[in-house]
Amino acid sequence: DPQGKNTTKTNALPLGKDSIEAAVYRVISRINHSCAPNVQHSWNSIMQKEYIHATEDITAGSEILTSYISPLMTREARLKRLKEDFRFTCQCKLCAAASSKEYDAAVTRINECSDLVVKFASSNPRKSIQLVRKALALLDKIKVCGKTIFYYDGFQISAMYSNYKLAKDWADLLLESYRFEEGETGDKYGMYLAYSTDVKSHERAGCGGYVDLRGV
Ligand SMILES: [Zn+2]
Repeated sequence: DPQGKNTTKTNALPLGKDSIEAAVYRVISRINHSCAPNVQHSWNSIMQKEYIHATEDITAGSEILTSYISPLMTREARLKRLKEDFRFTCQCKLCAAASSKEYDAAVTRINECSDLVVKFASSNPRKSIQLVRKALALLDKIKVCGKTIFYYDGFQISAMYSNYKLAKDWADLLLESYRFEEGETGDKYGMYLAYSTDVKSHERAGCGGYVDLRGV
């Protein structure tokens, strides 16, 4: 029935970030949403389990909150998405803040950086690394999860252009960030651990020849 279908949709978690499959859980589907969450949820396809991973210290008795959507959206876009997909008007501390100007400007810039990192990766890898660093600084400023993907960009670009010492630094940061954001139960932990152990294990290591990326 339509009622049941909506209940399933608004309470289900996708099995992995881009999955079209989803599941409803007895306990974790009850976790409420915040655009400034204190846990992350992620699907481990090997364990066939959904994991909840704290991203900050949570004192006893305080509510566990996860985000149903990407944090890298402006307030207007988040409110619209949550209304459409989950049928509520978000009143979390981030949405209720007097001004979202600074946050919105930062996420817009971070998303731009993300596109440009890919765009410049083959024509101007030094520029790509600069954009990675810019995005990481902005993520620090607004204190949201999402650094892992940029560390991964930094690692891949460095490895691709044969900067193996730099690639090792990026791989260590990548692993540390993934451990913090998703936890060791995350699907990609093993892969990132392997990169950190041997940067040349990446399939594209060295394939761009050599471009000096030091000091960027
Ligand atoms: Zn919110």
